[in-house]
Amino acid sequence: MKHLTPTLLLALIATLCIHSCAPAEGWTTEERTLINSAVYSRMRVTKTDNTADSLLLRTKSKPLSHGQLQSAEFGRLVASMIETVNDEENSGVGIAAPQVGVLRRMVVVQRFDKQGHPFEVFVNPVIKAYGEEKRLGGEGCLSVPGLRGEVERASVIDLEWRDAVTFELRSERIEGFTAVIFQHEIDHLDGILYTDRATTLTPR
Ligand SMILES: [Zn+2]
Repeated sequence: MKHLTPTLLLALIATLCIHSCAPAEGWTTEERTLINSAVYSRMRVTKTDNTADSLLLRTKSKPLSHGQLQSAEFGRLVASMIETVNDEENSGVGIAAPQVGVLRRMVVVQRFDKQGHPFEVFVNPVIKAYGEEKRLGGEGCLSVPGLRGEVERASVIDLEWRDAVTFELRSERIEGFTAVIFQHEIDHLDGILYTDRATTLTPR
């Protein structure tokens, strides 16, 4: 160590710190606290009847990095989102990360177009193209209590996303009700609620 000047030593410590002391691969302290407080259990759903939640639900989410996918927090967040969307008292067919208070671009969607209707996770999803055919269908939202609405959505979409393990780019053409769920959930990542697009809204 005798060749290390104090400046070099500081630089070395700083470099080591980037790799070992950085706040868990890009998560903010608030995100880590929230995710780690609900390990493998339901998280509180952000709702429009709460002012702070309303502002959060209107905020654009940030993309996830490959490093974040490799962190323990990511696995915990996925597990907790699946628990949350399956809450018997407020269950849904999809959920976006902002709905559990995390402003990151990921959604969990129930694949009605697959056998057994599994819930799957999609990182940084983007709708690359919309089919011309549109259909009007009923929608509700875990974050919008007491309402249902009719929304016109594309029947077919071309989806692109990052694999949750390898971070590789994936793409798929998705049709029918599952395509509607993706359009609803990906809207959440841009701060858009189905009520913005609804042609009619009714109490439920
Ligand atoms: Zn929703």
